[in-house]
Amino acid sequence: MQNPFENALNQIKRAVEVKEFPKSFIERLMHPDRQVRISIPLVMDDGTEKIFEGYRVEHNNKRGPYKGGIRFHQDADMNEVNALALWMTLKCAVANIPMGGGKGGITVDPKTLSQNELENLSRGWVRGMLPLLGPYKDVPAPDVNTNGQIMSWMVDEYEKLTDEKSGATFTGKPVSNRGSEGREEATSMGGLYVFNALRESLNLEGSLSVVIQGLGNVGGNAALLFEADGHKIIALSDSKGAIMNEEGLSVKDVIEFKKQTGSVVGFPGSKEISQSELLTLACDILIPSALENQITAENAKDIKARLVLELANGPTTPEADDILFAKGIYVVPDILANSGGVTVSTFEWEQNLKGEKWTKEEVFEKLKEKMEKEANNVLDNSRKYETDLRRGAFILAMERLS
Ligand code: GLU
Repeated sequence: MQNPFENALNQIKRAVEVKEFPKSFIERLMHPDRQVRISIPLVMDDGTEKIFEGYRVEHNNKRGPYKGGIRFHQDADMNEVNALALWMTLKCAVANIPMGGGKGGITVDPKTLSQNELENLSRGWVRGMLPLLGPYKDVPAPDVNTNGQIMSWMVDEYEKLTDEKSGATFTGKPVSNRGSEGREEATSMGGLYVFNALRESLNLEGSLSVVIQGLGNVGGNAALLFEADGHKIIALSDSKGAIMNEEGLSVKDVIEFKKQTGSVVGFPGSKEISQSELLTLACDILIPSALENQITAENAKDIKARLVLELANGPTTPEADDILFAKGIYVVPDILANSGGVTVSTFEWEQNLKGEKWTKEEVFEKLKEKMEKEANNVLDNSRKYETDLRRGAFILAMERLS
């Protein structure tokens, strides 16, 4: 697999070829402020002890506290977290929110843990990272395989050990525990707002066919929201397999089926396809919502979508970007397309610090306004510099950071 941090650095270099920035600024951007690795000892339910590896990369805090999720995944490592942290710095700048970039992780497949083990591992990460954390220092959130419940355990552990009790040190908490209305759907909703802001300029009007890779929080909500907005979801996948139905899948029923059986595979009326077939299906919109390095030099020439909306972080490699650009396929880059998540995280942080509670309508109204504005700023930049949307977004972020 390609090294995601190398890819992220490459993306910066490619943007700098289009617009020049001071060398010292670029050098700084290519080096994270701090990379922390901890050992987390965990007593398993059977009484044995295992050591897990945990990470936090604080990439840049020029615009505000380090901000970014924590990923629990068997393949998580320092390289990946470095890339994700760098993308957070750029993402927060594109979204124009007062946050810097950070990211965390633990190398673990959480599906192999009991609830009790998962809770203790989450609390262990907080104990290990305690000196870094705080509402004006570093504010984690959920990412792949982490959720509101995990944020609840983490904020509880943090509050046991400090006097800081605003709740603002973690975002993505459940609404019942000082979370924000709308945070759960925010990444996907932001993606839909971005898409709707751009579709006319990109000649993508009417009811469209959509393929979505990944059915976690982001992919699942994107499927529901795009379907509700009048589009046809023709293929879906999860980590176990992929399915399609050209007539359209009922997303709610697929999600229910997955809940019952553990996978989308076997959903009545659908045809099973391979993960790689899913990416190359003929469709209007392809939405990668899983992991990095999915669209690469190998399969980019076979992509038939008209637009790729990156709700995952880093799904497209730089080589693939060039192939898609040459084919006239638009790629709405992750640092714009999925910035709705961290934007509503920032709303949550603000509500916690001010002791306020905003309604879902207020949250989505503010989110929509932001996403529309920044989507157009990215589009304007790509036109001004005659380049793709990714470089347009990188240049916007780097202008704001420099
Ligand atoms: N993990 C999400 C992302 O990659 C959200 C981060 C946050 O809310 O801080 O953007």
